[in-house]
Amino acid sequence: MWMDLHTHTTCSDGQYTPEELVKRAGKLGICALAITDHDAISGTERGRNAAKVFPELEIFSGIEISAKENPQLHILGYGIDGNHPDLQAYIEKNKRLRMGRRERMLAFLQEKGVSLTLEEVMAANDGRSSGRPHFAKAMLEKGIVSSVEEAFDRYLATPEYLQRVERPKPTAVESIQMIRKAGGVAVLAHPAKLKLESSAFLELLSVLCETGLQGIEAYYSTHSKKEMAWYCKIAKQYGLFCTCGSDFHGEIIKPEIALGTGKNGSLFLPEELERELFRNFKHALSNRSNKI
Ligand code: AMP
Ligand code: ZN
Ligand code: FE
Ligand code: FE
Repeated sequence: MWMDLHTHTTCSDGQYTPEELVKRAGKLGICALAITDHDAISGTERGRNAAKVFPELEIFSGIEISAKENPQLHILGYGIDGNHPDLQAYIEKNKRLRMGRRERMLAFLQEKGVSLTLEEVMAANDGRSSGRPHFAKAMLEKGIVSSVEEAFDRYLATPEYLQRVERPKPTAVESIQMIRKAGGVAVLAHPAKLKLESSAFLELLSVLCETGLQGIEAYYSTHSKKEMAWYCKIAKQYGLFCTCGSDFHGEIIKPEIALGTGKNGSLFLPEELERELFRNFKHALSNRSNKI
């Protein structure tokens, strides 16, 4: 086990605090961990402090931005300047948009016959309520659904929900530009989740590359070996580097995804490959520039 460049903490919709996450990563023997919360970067500093007792473990700053074109089009940003004014403005604006979405979610759920209050959502999540998984967990605790997945399938990821309730999001191009301007490296998250035909995917990828995309998360928990190999081949053609990330949220939110190792060990990669991925990632970080 070597790296996990895609994880979530309580700074967004993860189950564990940055400190708890880092402790788990350190104990597992992970050497490179990126904290990539949704629209938040506050976990990195806390994670770095917690990592001081694990000299082998390096913590990378990260963020995950959801783009508007497709519910699964997410851009990861690494090595960002957290003080960059545009990025800070985006993060602040998004906090407000997420808060505003809560009322629409509750009204939507009520319309669908689900009785849930904001207090119940907070009570189920140690006072947090900004993410859809927080709502899903509250519904699970109340016995409205029998899994987080069911809450998404029936209510929180339906076409009607996405059309009527979702918050305004930046385009993928805007997300990449924002990451690059803040001095970060932009990586396309979980490409297979887009469920695009290869020609449509490559068309999208060309546009994203022209904008400044630098990497692709070829090694992702739910990617098959075949998909991993295909994305690596494409990465070479498009001059992108490959990353490896689990998208760990904690066992309650995503029970099948383990930190560092993915789904049923899907992210156990040959040591030499892990080293190569890590070298390329470090290289991209050390050469990063905001000139796009
Ligand atoms: P949000 O950013 O609050 O809209 O929530 C997005 C998060 O919800 C994602 O990172 C996933 O953790 C989770 N999510 C989105 N779609 C699904 C789904 N179909 N099943 C389970 N979790 C999902
Ligand atoms: Zn999430
Ligand atoms: Fe994502
Ligand atoms: Fe994620």
